[in-house]
Amino acid sequence: MKHNGIEFDNYFKNYPDANGYYGKFGGSYITEDLKRAMDEITAAYFTICKSSKFIGELRKIRKEFQGRPTPVSYLERLSNSIGNGVQLYVKREDLNHTGAHKLNHCMGEVLLAKYMGKKKVIAETGAGQHGVAMATAAAYFGLECDIYMGSVDIKKQAPNVARMKILGANVVEVTDGLATLKEAVDAAFEAYSKDYKDCIYCIGSVVGPHPFPMMVRDFQSVVGIEAREQFLSMTGELPDAVVACVGGGSNAMGMFSGFLNDPVDIYGVEPLGRGPKLGDHAASLKYGTEGVMHGFNSIMLKDENGDPAPVYSVASGLDYPSSGPEHAFLHTSGRVKYDVISDDETIDAFFTLSRLEGIIPAIESSHAVAYGIKLAKEMGKGSILINLSGRGDKDMDYIIEKYGIR
Ligand SMILES: *Cc1c(COP(=O)(O)O)cnc(C)c1O
Repeated sequence: MKHNGIEFDNYFKNYPDANGYYGKFGGSYITEDLKRAMDEITAAYFTICKSSKFIGELRKIRKEFQGRPTPVSYLERLSNSIGNGVQLYVKREDLNHTGAHKLNHCMGEVLLAKYMGKKKVIAETGAGQHGVAMATAAAYFGLECDIYMGSVDIKKQAPNVARMKILGANVVEVTDGLATLKEAVDAAFEAYSKDYKDCIYCIGSVVGPHPFPMMVRDFQSVVGIEAREQFLSMTGELPDAVVACVGGGSNAMGMFSGFLNDPVDIYGVEPLGRGPKLGDHAASLKYGTEGVMHGFNSIMLKDENGDPAPVYSVASGLDYPSSGPEHAFLHTSGRVKYDVISDDETIDAFFTLSRLEGIIPAIESSHAVAYGIKLAKEMGKGSILINLSGRGDKDMDYIIEKYGIR
């Protein structure tokens, strides 16, 4: 299928190119040392991902450890409450082990580390979700695990810090600067560049230098492939629209991968937070401009000096000043439409899905649910498949304290 001049047959063969570019976005803007380390990972990935032993092991893990395939659920009461005939469905990544889609790429990354003979995995974490998924994967494979985390986040995310420690990970406190995610990324990169022979740095989304945006997408594509098959067998048709929330963009790329070459409208949902003023949101594709950060070229939110701007969202997992390069490409090519949802609309959707369907969604995923509901009202007919990237247990205390019961 062709879209705005871009051929989507063989899309995954052509994108990214050999240097990790999706059009002009992507690449690797890093030091020579780190570039060597990334080249080694790229070469290993291209060899290993074709080996039947690796594929077989990953399949077994997904089925017997993660609980895949996760189901697609029809949202009957929510669809009826909208009442115009539009049918809403969700892909249940909340039922994946550890409660979100993140384990899909973490298990793949750590399995790759094992095949490469690495002893240790390194990662950074903000809210702690990526750290918990990494610690889980490292425990499963018996690798050492260092998670870099700012001291401010360590205080804020005590339950996730406890989880990582119980799982045997070493939580490394970062006290530089504002002591949050950005400083943790810098510290993790520095530790990695000193020790890249024995360890691997596992990035938590479709961001960072090549090959991570590609690898993480490939590991997440199981979501879209499963969902497409499940939706077809449930309804006999493809959905008219597919919706996912976009932070770095891994759950969205996983879902979208299944539908890029289909006549399906695709929507990525960014957090509008408190509003469109810089500093009040994290809607990088909607309000950002082209630029390089964290080793890749994409569309990002910048401050007056051109550095990554401070961002805000009620969902800490969406709180990132850029998005993966492939999203920048799909945005500028027009294949995917990116739109925004505010904190307030998100909280409403969180309660709506909980009350009408008995599913408590993650606050990140609630952005996608809110957009799905909005879109259903506009469409008037057809079907919408929403990626429910995670469960909301982690968010309940915060929501009740800040918003009360709605
Ligand atoms: C981390 C997280 C996200 C955001 O990350 P993406 O890479 O954009 O998918 C979304 N939903 C949940 C539940 C998360 O934990």
